[in-house]
Amino acid sequence: MKIICIGRNYTKHIEELANEKPKEPVIFLKADSSILPNRNPFVIPPFSNDIHYEVEVLVKINRVGKYIDQKFAHKYYDEISLGIDFTARDLQSQLKEKGLPWEKAKAFDGSAVIGDFYPKEDYDINNLQFQLYKNDELVQNGNTANMLWKIDEIIAYVSQFFTLKKGDIIFTGTPAGVGKVNPNDLLIGKLVDKEIFAIKVR
Ligand code: MG
Repeated sequence: MKIICIGRNYTKHIEELANEKPKEPVIFLKADSSILPNRNPFVIPPFSNDIHYEVEVLVKINRVGKYIDQKFAHKYYDEISLGIDFTARDLQSQLKEKGLPWEKAKAFDGSAVIGDFYPKEDYDINNLQFQLYKNDELVQNGNTANMLWKIDEIIAYVSQFFTLKKGDIIFTGTPAGVGKVNPNDLLIGKLVDKEIFAIKVR
């Protein structure tokens, strides 16, 4: 399986990192070895002093598709979740500066937290409130209504480049409020007040 991630999908997050607003979705991949299942501890890797959390809505692909038309994109997923796109921000800044690929900063072991999945019918997918709490403090509060590219547009776009397969997961971008994690932090993700993941930092 593969993990496809969308960068710069919420205006306020683009502004907080002083990035340019993209004309097309920014895409990168994580490896299957990046996955950190719910309730496993996240271990801060030795190569970074600035690991950031980025809470994101996740979509799980349920059938094979390529060149998917946006109007049929909803047929290609039936479960959603929340996760964290852990990012070695110091390393990513160096790579960005040199125009190099981001994988070392984005696809390292444990960098893809994947929460529990729920049927999409349980939620209003285009008006979905989601939160990240760090040690009980609300640090990110997003709503999919503020996405630059909605889930169906993302599926249509990425399927032009990559064949989507059953079990693939899409990280749909983070809202504003990203920040550094420290040992002993507890990160809890909520989708409309329901706990979707809980991760302890080591
Ligand atoms: Mg992200």
